[in-house]
Amino acid sequence: MDRLRFLVDLHGPADRQGPGSDQATRQAIALSGLAPSPALRIADLGCGTGASALVLAAELGAEVTAIDVQPDFLNRLAQRADAARLADRVTGVEASMTAPPFADGSLDAIWSEGAIYNLGFDEGIARWRRYLKPGGILAVSDLCWLTPDRPAELQHLWATAYPGIGTVPDRIAALEREGYVLQGYFPLDPSCWMENYYHPIEARFAEMRTAHPGDADTARMIEAESREIEIYRRYGAWYSYGFFVARKSDL
Ligand code: SAH
Repeated sequence: MDRLRFLVDLHGPADRQGPGSDQATRQAIALSGLAPSPALRIADLGCGTGASALVLAAELGAEVTAIDVQPDFLNRLAQRADAARLADRVTGVEASMTAPPFADGSLDAIWSEGAIYNLGFDEGIARWRRYLKPGGILAVSDLCWLTPDRPAELQHLWATAYPGIGTVPDRIAALEREGYVLQGYFPLDPSCWMENYYHPIEARFAEMRTAHPGDADTARMIEAESREIEIYRRYGAWYSYGFFVARKSDL
């Protein structure tokens, strides 16, 4: 089994494909100052099965265009939107965040939880600014160091897996450099990682082994996922996802 299929099978049934919580999405909405309106146009970039898209539509009554490159995730998003009676507010579109299908200056907000790493934080925020209306909101969560220093083993692990990882001040400086004004920041708490993300994945390891008996690739990929979870259990005090809410400056 190839890695992409493995990841889609492992993460597809889940309500979210990265660390987070509905409460964190609501907290970011509060920091954004966005007021509910059916006229709000919001893009969710790298939406997965719709964790944040559904909260945005429910809380703000906004028109949410949710993009992802994974059709299986978009199918599940459509089912969830139907079940939540939000199908008229949320549209899934198969497209890449590298060149999202939006007109310049057309969006009130760009949302992206746990997905900007596909481009890299600095690259993503630079590329996406043009799609926002003047004063539009950017809300992104991304992996960050929580302290200036950290154990060498951990530094090595994440710098290899995600070379774009930075400290919170690095992220804030990048936002300012790229023409945004920070509205607020908070780190995701441990329940966003364990209860909401890693526990549901761990619960599916056995199913995956049963579905692919004797498959060495499957076993190896489960092993790699388990190692990532162990690293979080050991070192979670040093890193998390930082949630940054910023406004497009007038520059
Ligand atoms: N925002 C969701 C999913 C995060 S996982 C949540 O918080 O649950 C990262 C997502 O980015 C995956 O759904 C993956 O399919 C998607 N992705 C990866 N590369 C992408 C790209 N180039 N353009 C759009 N989405 C991408």
